[in-house]
Amino acid sequence: MNKSDSERVRTVVEAIGYRWTDNEQEANLLGILACSVRQKSIDKVYSRIHKWNSWKNQRNLITFVSGCILPTDREKFLKQFDLIFEMRELPQFADMLSQYGVLNPASYIHDKLQFVESDKEETDKPGFDHLHLSVREKTGNGLKPLIHRPEEKIKDFWHVKPTYHSTYEAFIPIQNGCDKFCTYCAVPYTRGREVSRPSGEILDELKELVNIGYKSVTLLGQNVNSYGMDKNGTEMTFPALLRKIGEYGKISGKDFWIYFTSPHPRDMTDEVIEVISQYKCLAKQIHLPLQSGDDKVLTKMNRNHSTADYRRIIHLIRKTVPEATIFTDIIVGFAGETDEQFENTRSAMQELRFNMAYIAKYSPRPGAASSRWNDDVPAAVKSARLHSLTRELTRHTLDYNMKLTGKRLKVLVTGKDRKEGYLSALTEGKIVLRFKSDDEILIGKFAEVMIESATEFALGAKFIGKIITEKV
Ligand code: SF4
Repeated sequence: MNKSDSERVRTVVEAIGYRWTDNEQEANLLGILACSVRQKSIDKVYSRIHKWNSWKNQRNLITFVSGCILPTDREKFLKQFDLIFEMRELPQFADMLSQYGVLNPASYIHDKLQFVESDKEETDKPGFDHLHLSVREKTGNGLKPLIHRPEEKIKDFWHVKPTYHSTYEAFIPIQNGCDKFCTYCAVPYTRGREVSRPSGEILDELKELVNIGYKSVTLLGQNVNSYGMDKNGTEMTFPALLRKIGEYGKISGKDFWIYFTSPHPRDMTDEVIEVISQYKCLAKQIHLPLQSGDDKVLTKMNRNHSTADYRRIIHLIRKTVPEATIFTDIIVGFAGETDEQFENTRSAMQELRFNMAYIAKYSPRPGAASSRWNDDVPAAVKSARLHSLTRELTRHTLDYNMKLTGKRLKVLVTGKDRKEGYLSALTEGKIVLRFKSDDEILIGKFAEVMIESATEFALGAKFIGKIITEKV
């Protein structure tokens, strides 16, 4: 989500007139898209802004922060950053900058905006059109900022065309915010309530990407599979959206993989799994957060599903889409988690045999309900639990990956590998691999490889050939 947001921020900043630099030391505008999931990420924001502020007496520098920010951090950031805004306020960023008082490209654009309707050349800049339309409206007294309801603002945000970071992999936000209020999570407070993006826009963006050769597209949302539920029957459901995409894949004859993240077990209907099994372009990889394998902990987390519900979903995936890899998220050391409750999580991992698990040690997030509870699991115990789950995970991944040796697989070549003379790639199930080749023309293309070796988290392969499957 953070990466996807940054693609839209870049469009807006470049449309204002700034040019990108990879050198932080020479930038005149520096910003951070914060993530509040863990305290560690927020600590990094503080150390970075401290450094940037120390540069301010040497040059003209404006700093900003956006992304997921908790109210408590927001107050502190207000004193340290020049500008702070919610991601849905991005289209108003030009206004904020121009009114900041320092002469910057936005001050220039601010004047220009008054002539924007007749200045075709200026509005032809990518992203500019959406930018100025949402920033201002013309009134009898000149220009004034638009007043938006939150839902309107997020629509403006979606209308900003991203500056994609890759030529073959992209993210499409389909929904923003969350209504689930898990007790450890701050997202409903930082991102607001669930709002689904109109399906027509999602499909248009997808078709545009696929038409220009994108091979891997991820549908993004805090709760992708509750897509449409906020629209009281006036928008399609998540499985219906997947079906539409699947049909497009079939009819267009284009070759691409569609992923989605993250779904919630509570809204993971049988229909979603059924649809994935029916269409080639819907990638056979499912990321389904488990968080805990203990029912009491799940209740305390307000996850609104039991381990039995979760197990039923996994069994259905294994039956209906047997080739699918399954990823998960787990929190260890949640407030009050006993040895016995952790043991239930460990045995769930043993039973469910995930291909990947993002395991996090619990840390209370200010504002989230659990922050009022005693964070009573000692740090050393959290670390031991994390290592224990990692051991459990790697037992299964090694076993799974070993079984792939000798098989021919279609993979997406993602770049140069760290090992000289090798390229890296991903299987459809998102298992990392590398193969010997220095033919960089393959990057961003599908290829066929033969798996020759396996470790816990990666595969070694031999290049067989490039795959051209699309209709001409
Ligand atoms: S479902 Fe829970 S964990 Fe996920 S974003 Fe919503 S509140 Fe946070």
